[in-house]
Amino acid sequence: MSTVRLLLSCLLLKEVVALSGNFWHITDLHWDPTYNLTDNPELVCASSGTRPAASAGKFGDYACDSPWLLINSSVYAMKDILPDPDFILWTGDDTPHVPNEDLGEEAVLHIISSLTHIINQVFPNTKVYPALGNHDYHPKSQLPAGPNYIYNQTAEMWQGWLDPESRGTFKKGGYYTEKLLNRTGFRMLVLNTNLYYDQNKATQDMDDPAGQFSWADQVLTEAANNKEKVYIIGHVPPGFFEKKRNKPWFMPSFNKLYLDLIQKHHSVILGQFFGHHHTDSFRMFYNSEGSPISTMFLSPGVTPWKTSLPGVVDGANNPGIRVFEYDTQTLLVKDVVTHYLNLTRANAARGRWEKEYRLTESFRVPDASPASMHQALERIASSRCYLQKYYEFNSVSYDLTECNSDCRVDHVCAAREVDFDRYEHCLEKEGAAAIYGGFLPVLSMAVSLAFANW
Ligand SMILES: [Zn+2]
Ligand SMILES: [Zn+2]
Repeated sequence: MSTVRLLLSCLLLKEVVALSGNFWHITDLHWDPTYNLTDNPELVCASSGTRPAASAGKFGDYACDSPWLLINSSVYAMKDILPDPDFILWTGDDTPHVPNEDLGEEAVLHIISSLTHIINQVFPNTKVYPALGNHDYHPKSQLPAGPNYIYNQTAEMWQGWLDPESRGTFKKGGYYTEKLLNRTGFRMLVLNTNLYYDQNKATQDMDDPAGQFSWADQVLTEAANNKEKVYIIGHVPPGFFEKKRNKPWFMPSFNKLYLDLIQKHHSVILGQFFGHHHTDSFRMFYNSEGSPISTMFLSPGVTPWKTSLPGVVDGANNPGIRVFEYDTQTLLVKDVVTHYLNLTRANAARGRWEKEYRLTESFRVPDASPASMHQALERIASSRCYLQKYYEFNSVSYDLTECNSDCRVDHVCAAREVDFDRYEHCLEKEGAAAIYGGFLPVLSMAVSLAFANW
C-alpha cells in the first residue's frame, strides 16, 4: 500500500472512530440496606417478604433486592468495562421493595443519596442524566404533580449533573430537558412517567399531570424547529409487561397521550430508554401505515429481585448493565451490549461481570434502528430459535426454560403493540396463529437445525 493510501485509510478510520460514541444505561438498582447473611433464610433481607432467601451469598439472592456489595460491584464493573463513556443514563428505582412503613422520606433520600454518591465517586467527570423511578418517593409510586420535599431535595442532590434550568422544572414536576452534552443540535428529554403509573393515586383524575405532556410537546416542537435530535429517558414505560398477559402500567388515557406524542414527533426522537421491568426487552412504535418509527429500549435491572406480581412464575433476573453504541452525528443507536453477573456463580466463586450479548450479533441486524429492531422482532415472532434466545436474554440468562406458544404471544404482542386495543388484537391474532400452527413447525424445525451451532 502506498504511503498516501495508508494515510488516507488512517484518516478515514479516524473519522469512523470519531463518529461512534457510547454511553451506559443503568436502572433499578434497588439497594436493600437490610441485606445480611444469616443462617435463617427468612431473615436475610426485608425485600424478600415472607419468601426465604434460599441461596443467599455476598452478592445477593434472587428473592432479595441488591446488597451494597452488588451495587458497588456493578458501578465498578462499569468502570472496568467502559471507563470513559460519553454520558450515563440512570433511570431510577433505588429503594428496596418493602412496605411503606419500613421506609420514610428520609430513608428514601438517604438511599438516593448513597447511590448518587457512588456513581459520582466512580465517574467524577462524566455527565449523568438521572430520572426518578416509582420507588424513589415516599409513599412509593405516589409521585405528585407539583413541588414537594423529595423533588426539591433530589434536585439539590443532583446539582452537579443538572443545569439550573433543569433543576427548576425538576422541582416542579420531576422532569427536565437540556442540550445533550451541551452540544447544539442534540437534546435529552427526561420524563417523570411515574405520574402516569396506574398505582399513582395523586394523579389519577388529572388530564395532564404537572403539564408534562404539553411541556414535552413544546420541547419536541422546538427541537424540530431547531433541527435537533432527541433521546427520551424515563422509568415506567407505556404498553404492557411481557411477563404477564394484559398487564399495563400506564392509565389508559396517559398511554394514549404518550403514543400520540411519539407518533407526532418521531422524526426528531432517535431513541427512548426506560427501566422498571427489570427485564431486557423493547417496544416498537409504528406510524399509521405500519412502518417502524421508534424503539423504546427496556434495560435490565441491577437488582435480581424475583417479582411478587401475581401470575408471574419465577420472575427473577441476573443483574444487568448496558452499553449503547451510537452515532455521535445523528444519534442513531448502532448497537447494544449487555453485561451481566451470573449471581449463582458470583456467590460460589468471585464476582465476575461478563458480556452477555451484542444485539447486532445475536439478532443478525445491521444496527439498532427502528427498522432493524422491527426486523429483530419479526425474527423473534417467527423463529423458535430467535424467540428462545430473546427469552433467555429477557431474564438476563436467569430463566433458561423453554418459551412456549403462550409465552411467545405475550412477548411478541408486548413488544409490537404499545396501544391497548392493538395489543388486544395482537393477542387474538397471534393466539389463533399459535393454535392453528402459525409457528410453521416444519420450517421452524429447519431454522432451529440451521442455527443449532451458535
Ligand atoms: Zn424497579
Ligand atoms: Zn419501577
